Amino acid sequence: MSRPFKLYRLQQIDSQLDWIHNRIQEIDHLLKEDSALQEAIAHAELSDQALQKARKEMRRAEDEVRQQRLKIEQSESSLYGGKIRNPKELKDLENEVASLKRYLSVLEDRQLEAMLAEEEAAERQKQSAAELEVTRQKHSQRSNELMQERERILKDASRLEDERNAALTSISADDLALYTQLRKTRRGVAVAKVADRACSACGSTLNAALLSAAHSPNQINHCEVCGRILYLG
Ligand SMILES: [Zn+2]
Repeated sequence: MSRPFKLYRLQQIDSQLDWIHNRIQEIDHLLKEDSALQEAIAHAELSDQALQKARKEMRRAEDEVRQQRLKIEQSESSLYGGKIRNPKELKDLENEVASLKRYLSVLEDRQLEAMLAEEEAAERQKQSAAELEVTRQKHSQRSNELMQERERILKDASRLEDERNAALTSISADDLALYTQLRKTRRGVAVAKVADRACSACGSTLNAALLSAAHSPNQINHCEVCGRILYLG
């Protein structure tokens, strides 16, 4: 195994580990993300509150109609009870009953409106409760999938760590130091494969001398443009 190949193999392992660590971070972030669920909860709560309010209004309207009917009953029983004989008094009472009945019809209209409003509020509440349930299920399914992925790639990472340790045994301390330094300064990529006479990391074409030098198994050559270690593949 050539020195560049050993470093290239280490690079492949490290790139996969980098990807896994980034993905774990992303998953942890996604697992905390529940804005759609929170929104559905808030919406369902508002619908619940609106329904409670509509029910209260409806009960009040029913109550008012009931009380008005009672008033009319009492006035009519006085009117037809026979105890009052004075014509003026009877006329006044008659007018009062008529006026009570007019207001009763206003109250009955209000009651009907309140009943319709309650029906609508109940329908909306039912809908948002159903939507909340669907959102909850989706959220829980998504969380389960993410947790499973997390577990799976953590196992991959542990296998890769073993491979990395094995790969390190054949790399000299100097080569590893060089590799580590380049990884830090070249966005994680220290070794670049040569493809079509060019550095696959930065795309620059290699001159003939460098290309020939890159064939040597015991020599480390760098791309003249990006400085990465070249591996001929
Ligand atoms: Zn390059």
